[in-house]
Amino acid sequence: MSLEIPSAAHDTTHHPPARGGAGPLPSRGRVAHVGNGAGVVHVISLGAGVQSSVMALMAAHGEIAPMPKCAIFADTKAEPQSVYRWLDWLEKRLPFPVRRVIQGAGLVDDTLRLRRRKDNTGYWSPSGVPHYNRNNDGTTGHGPRQCTKAFKIAPIARETRRIMKESGAQHIVRWIGISLDEVHRMKPSRDKYSTHIWPLIDKRMTRHDCKLWMDRHGYPPAPRSACVFCPYHSDSEWRRLKIEEPEEFELAVKFERDYQQTRSQQTRSQQTRLRVVVPFLHKSCVPLSQVDFSTDEDHGQQVMFGNECEGLCGV
Ligand code: SF4
Repeated sequence: MSLEIPSAAHDTTHHPPARGGAGPLPSRGRVAHVGNGAGVVHVISLGAGVQSSVMALMAAHGEIAPMPKCAIFADTKAEPQSVYRWLDWLEKRLPFPVRRVIQGAGLVDDTLRLRRRKDNTGYWSPSGVPHYNRNNDGTTGHGPRQCTKAFKIAPIARETRRIMKESGAQHIVRWIGISLDEVHRMKPSRDKYSTHIWPLIDKRMTRHDCKLWMDRHGYPPAPRSACVFCPYHSDSEWRRLKIEEPEEFELAVKFERDYQQTRSQQTRSQQTRLRVVVPFLHKSCVPLSQVDFSTDEDHGQQVMFGNECEGLCGV
């Protein structure tokens, strides 16, 4: 039984061009020649936003081959309801299953739960959601982003290994829903047992092309997928959330308050050894409920990453 394991050269030829550079794009027709043989399984990394949804539906229409075994959706338990509704809708239209994977009790629980230190000197909480912060000396800063790795990359990798075990596969080909306008987000797989491919790039499709494809097929527009409280929202996305999904916006406001409360308990319990850090979700370090979102990237604000988590959160 021959096994077509994609060689390292495949990934090498598909390294992304330097950010903002004009490096070569991957060649067309890549999906067809990345190992489809016995022992190789194709899976979709589904973020449930525009691009990965179109990619899954294109597979369902036979426009991208081979048919994936399944899609994996890493659920932070913090997406807006519009995304969960969309996922329910999408699942019914796909000829392959969507496997939803969750790390622990979700990102909110992980970020807000204080843990007792082993030496009984107080409590700690993980960095959780990235945040902007105002320090007690008046300076501002930015907390690290660990959520992508812990709540997206790791659960997907675990599920991938489970799929390999269940199906006896020796290699996984992961479809990543990055479009031509987000080419800087392409990253080869770090695992020897998997290869990343980018079918939308192969098809030279932009995010706008994806929307047109949905339109042509009579499908409703897909929502934007990201945690409701993601600090990488642009002002226009915050404004959209506030106007179109006010309950979700209120959840983000509440989360910010709880986050600040958790952090204040953590730092109090460690007396004054640490700087007091107050986390904010908006770069202005103003409480979300008081931010004026009328100024946005049209006025020069940069969007922090290419719109959506898409199972990768921009990494
Ligand atoms: S959407 Fe934002 S908050 Fe959620 S996992 Fe991705 S980077 Fe973290």
